[in-house]
Amino acid sequence: MAETIFSKIIRKEIPADIVYEDDYVLGFKDINPQAPFHVLFIPKVRIATHNDIDNSNVDYVAKLHLAAGKYAKEIGEDENGYRVVMNCNGNGGQTVFHIHMHFLAGRQMNWPPG
Ligand code: AMP
Repeated sequence: MAETIFSKIIRKEIPADIVYEDDYVLGFKDINPQAPFHVLFIPKVRIATHNDIDNSNVDYVAKLHLAAGKYAKEIGEDENGYRVVMNCNGNGGQTVFHIHMHFLAGRQMNWPPG
């Protein structure tokens, strides 16, 4: 499967509002925010969907969680709470096929999601 726009963001070929970066993960603001804080944390290698996580790349997924936790503390939303979501394929509502953890904070989240 061809690479996505997120590979171009990783290579800094197209702009993004980057709020977090380390050797494994990039975090940038979602262009269509669904909460006061809506950041996408993506691995710096392309994993197309949640189905493609395996033993060779699962460390990247752990790093997404670590990055989200650090960011929550940094913006002072760790105690208030937040939501992390990864959509998969059609029923999950995935539109960009490079896994991304949505980080949503700054308002009350509802359950079940729509
Ligand atoms: P999903 O529907 O889970 O695949 O989420 C894809 C997300 O990527 C959506 O929330 C979009 O708003 C967001 N998005 C798409 N293109 C960009 C971009 N260039 N910069 C930031 N966010 C983007």
